Amino acid sequence: MTSFTLVLLPIDGEVLDAGAGRVVAAAQAFGQPVHALVQGPAAVAAQAARLQGVARVLHAETAPPNAETLARRIAALAERYDTVVAAHGMLARAALPRVAALTGRAYLSDVTAIPSRRSVVRPIYAGSAMATVQVEGALCLTVRASAFEPLADRAAPVDIEALAPVEPDGRSRLLGRETAGQDRPDLTRARVVVAGGRGVGAAEHMRLVEALADRLGGAVGASRAAVDAGFAPNSVQVGQTGKVVAPELYIAAGISGAIQHVAGIKDAKVIVAINKDPDAPIFAHADIGLVGDLFEVLPALAQALPAR
Ligand code: FAD
Repeated sequence: MTSFTLVLLPIDGEVLDAGAGRVVAAAQAFGQPVHALVQGPAAVAAQAARLQGVARVLHAETAPPNAETLARRIAALAERYDTVVAAHGMLARAALPRVAALTGRAYLSDVTAIPSRRSVVRPIYAGSAMATVQVEGALCLTVRASAFEPLADRAAPVDIEALAPVEPDGRSRLLGRETAGQDRPDLTRARVVVAGGRGVGAAEHMRLVEALADRLGGAVGASRAAVDAGFAPNSVQVGQTGKVVAPELYIAAGISGAIQHVAGIKDAKVIVAINKDPDAPIFAHADIGLVGDLFEVLPALAQALPAR
């Protein structure tokens, strides 16, 4: 009997998320046909049907409103799939453990490599070590999309199967969604991230971090200490319990470099650290280290760059 992999494709409004091809690449590593679950406008399903590596698209017009209902949707399909893959985003992180519980399968999170059909690699101890995990039987996993090479589109689309609406889970209700209105790029997809830590000293000083981010067309991030101190909103926390970022350039200002913070920036291509303490652990992870006062360095850098 052929086994199949189901991949839950990430959607960004009216289009497929830029990371969708990466998640399919991860799903393909299991060496079995990949079916893609798309919940959203028909145009997104049509886009998914042209993704390299997708053998069939399962399309539902309406996205389940919460993780509980999404888990029901996937669990109902799970009989056909021994492996369920999703990007390591907020919704999948809440839904896939539920699918695992509902269907009695294993769950593994934040997978960064899939060396064989029966083994996956994932970080442990806040990213200080990587564990290769042997897997037996059916599996649900979230993958770190940035760790996989994206697949290109192809010319001929595959079939799209329409799914019936799923019965909502009555135990929780979505009361509303609020989007933090901001003009800057999304933190997890930004090419440049400038982050401030406790060293920034006060909420109003975050404008130095913001000014440099704006000069570079980047997103603003923060350490947990900066978030806890009220310098920045929780939504921009980078690290083990915040967002995992993979920009081309990550600038850490006034951040010491605790392992829980570094866990969120490991995939950054170039890390620049600005810290007045030459012994700060962040310098061990930085490609470029600037020992200095961020109150001098940040404005000087922003000034040296052309206004956008
Ligand atoms: P500090 O460690 O206090 O460092 C401040 C730095 O600023 C110092 O190195 C100092 O030299 C420098 N500095 C001060 N003034 C200046 C100046 N004027 N110019 C230049 N440099 C200056 N942390 C995260 O960030 N993200 C997470 O997701 C996260 N998850 C966690 C999960 C768990 C379970 C636990 C236990 C902790 C977690 N933490 C996380 C917290 C983490 O351990 C650190 O406490 C936190 O990262 C420290 O933040 P910081 O570097 O901003 O502050």
